[in-house]
Amino acid sequence: MSNDLESIKGIGSVTASKLRSAGLTTLEAIAVTPVREIMNKTGLSYETALKISREARRFMKVDFVRAKDIWERRKNMLRCTTGSKALDNILGGGIETQAMTELIGDYGVGKTQICLTLTVTAQLLKEEGGLEGSVIYIDTEGTFSPERIYQIASERELDPQKILDGVIIARAYNSDHQCLLIDHLFKKCPEENVKLVIVDSMISHFRGEYVGRENLSERQQRLNEYLHKLLRLAEAYNIAVVITNQVQANPAQFWGDTDRPAGGHIMAHACTHRVYLRRSKGDTRTAKVIDSPYLPENTAKFRITERGIEDVEE
Ligand code: ADP
Ligand code: MG
Repeated sequence: MSNDLESIKGIGSVTASKLRSAGLTTLEAIAVTPVREIMNKTGLSYETALKISREARRFMKVDFVRAKDIWERRKNMLRCTTGSKALDNILGGGIETQAMTELIGDYGVGKTQICLTLTVTAQLLKEEGGLEGSVIYIDTEGTFSPERIYQIASERELDPQKILDGVIIARAYNSDHQCLLIDHLFKKCPEENVKLVIVDSMISHFRGEYVGRENLSERQQRLNEYLHKLLRLAEAYNIAVVITNQVQANPAQFWGDTDRPAGGHIMAHACTHRVYLRRSKGDTRTAKVIDSPYLPENTAKFRITERGIEDVEE
């Protein structure tokens, strides 16, 4: 079955080229892009954009589907090891494809370390806990480290050059750039057999750029739009999406747990699994799964070492 743009009723070669130059290169991308955005980016009329959007959704079967079909699709779900069995266990066996996992925690807690370890483990064979695919890493804070990937791969007795070759990195300089990169994922992921997409961090640019109460709703709207694009990407291509999020101090809450994740309800609702990370003694950390639709709330300890993430020795 062809899923060329031209295979859709109402898309001729002129329209197709308009869509392509707007970055809407696949039916998946069109299916998840709001009609208004298609219209604005391509200059097509509302009626045409609406028709194309409907056809793309129908083709992608993203409207109504039977539970049985979703069950069938979920059978293709893969899990990627984090490097720590204890952490994998509370995640139900590892980081899931067809889902978005959010790593939440304070500065220095190990969010980036988990992401960097995953860039290595995702490339392992399925029977070794990998996804047998390449990785895209969207770095918004400039903390991506190829040297660290090299170290983790070498310590795990893998070929570091080969592992580095399987990681595609994009540095996002502002939130618009970050959104543009996410739009490009719909083309890049199938081309490069990407099985893991990391956005580290999802929210820092948004927080930095949309300052003040009056800009909050616009920020949340845009964040919501792109979180949902990532989730659709995960479902459409059987990809694991991992995003990181900082905790922010909540001045309204004086007693007890004063830290809460940034991004509010939008973030909480869009992410499939949320993992809270906290510091423990020395190089150990505690992870807790919260708000998951099907995983129980559980905690695990892990360590950050030269090997990346690993279990705490008993
Ligand atoms: P964040 O949650 O802010 O992304 P990081 O993932 O950058 O935090 O984690 C920083 C922590 O990782 C620090 O405690 C640091 O000591 C540890 N770390 C970084 N590199 C190594 C390494 N090569 N070996 C052991 N620990 C490391
Ligand atoms: Mg970090």
